[in-house]
Amino acid sequence: MATGLGIRQSEVHERVLANGPNGSIVKMGELEFPPRKVWMKTFGCQMNYHDSERILSHLKDLNFFQTDELNEADLVLFNTCAVRDLANSKFYGQLAELKQLKKSKGGLVIGVGGCVAQTEGKELVKRYQHLDFAFGPDVIDCINDMVYRTYAGDSKFAINSWDRSDNFSIETKITHGLPQAFINIIKGCDKYCSYCIVPYTRGKEKSRKLQEVVTDARKLVEYQGIQEITLLGQNVNSYGKENKETLAALLGELDQIRGLELIRYTTSHPYDVSDELIAAHGSLKKLSKHLHLPVQSGSNSVLERMLREYSVEHYLNLLAKLRKVQPEIVITTDIIVGFVNETEAEFQDTLKLLDMAQFDFSYSYVYSQRNHTRSAKMDDTLTAEIKGERLRYLQKYQLDIQQKLRQSLIGQRFLMLVEGHGNMRGIKKWRGRTSCNRIVHFIPQTEDADYQWHWVEVEVTSATSLSCQGKLLRDYGKRPPHLWRTYGEQLPPLVGDSGPAVDQSCPTITPL
Ligand code: SF4
Repeated sequence: MATGLGIRQSEVHERVLANGPNGSIVKMGELEFPPRKVWMKTFGCQMNYHDSERILSHLKDLNFFQTDELNEADLVLFNTCAVRDLANSKFYGQLAELKQLKKSKGGLVIGVGGCVAQTEGKELVKRYQHLDFAFGPDVIDCINDMVYRTYAGDSKFAINSWDRSDNFSIETKITHGLPQAFINIIKGCDKYCSYCIVPYTRGKEKSRKLQEVVTDARKLVEYQGIQEITLLGQNVNSYGKENKETLAALLGELDQIRGLELIRYTTSHPYDVSDELIAAHGSLKKLSKHLHLPVQSGSNSVLERMLREYSVEHYLNLLAKLRKVQPEIVITTDIIVGFVNETEAEFQDTLKLLDMAQFDFSYSYVYSQRNHTRSAKMDDTLTAEIKGERLRYLQKYQLDIQQKLRQSLIGQRFLMLVEGHGNMRGIKKWRGRTSCNRIVHFIPQTEDADYQWHWVEVEVTSATSLSCQGKLLRDYGKRPPHLWRTYGEQLPPLVGDSGPAVDQSCPTITPL
């Protein structure tokens, strides 16, 4: 029996036998799916990366396993981002290049998901003959059905329908086996900032119920060894409005989960930072001492044109309140330079804001016009040259601020989770991320020492505007010596742990 793309059932059985006893066939409808490989490229924000993880997790149920080798792939997927031009152009370039691969490799299936597919999926499928299907962010949980349709021989299709259900209800799916996980708590955005495409690609805000998220997090901690979670949403601090629940209340519940060590959330809108949320930053022990709070501009007139719904004064007041309840909090931000008709005076106001806010880091970009948005309809007289010059100037200005901030960290000690290692000018260094989201690199005690996913204490010895170098003071193994844990408390088992035993006796109190 043919399976749709020229693979015959008898051939399928041969492939499985060749894979040995672990090779199994998954049956879906009339089709049988032998083990296959999927190559996936993700563009954009953490939400997209999280969506990709979810897609890959679903695909495992259909016998697709991830590969980093494009040439090995049976299925190629893109998860696209419509927010900035650069990611868009890279995606189009890579999609075009796949034409040859599809010609030379019979049976290769290509799909495009994400925000570009939501708004342009139908045109994409028409324009690129080698593209099999396109799908928007609201239908990622149907990925196996879409792949099935293609293997069943259906003609090319694009799906950009919205999830019309009243509730947003999902269970987090992860496959990576790491101690960090993203949990999606709200999708969509109701803000309609004038430059932003997200409300058109991700739809209206919908939050998961608080108890569902708490149960989800407990399961991740208990059964998958998760120690650090990041709550995700386009406008995460708008969470729960329709259910009369709040992000602060959710954080309070998560703070109680035994075995969960660190909670982060992103991305926040300044309009929705409540006093209750600010207080949580002062009282919750596991909440990260970092807040990413995009300001976008330091000029009130630009903020008005952007429809951001807050003023510079309101924003600075939030920072003051946050720093009062949590003096160690680190604030990072996003800045758009050269928004429609930005004057020199408006640009100078943004530089003044950088001085006043003292951001630890800033993601800054030149304004890039997106179709469908309100600002795309405004006449813009600013030239690309002026925008580019302003961006370079602002980035240098911010780096000088960061340099000073980082220099002041020298001599400070931090507890951090080690995320990986690399070579810096021929020297092997491990790197971790502190609770306040700063990266610190350190040299291992021995060349072959393995600190992956260990909690370590480091002292900062030198710093540049972008990172810190430190020396290793103590390796705690795969569980941190936190103050809120009582001696001898039974914690959930560590998944795949082979590291050293936890040193519960260590009395060291370090700033997170
Ligand atoms: S808050 Fe504004 S910038 Fe952020 S996703 Fe919503 S519309 Fe876009």
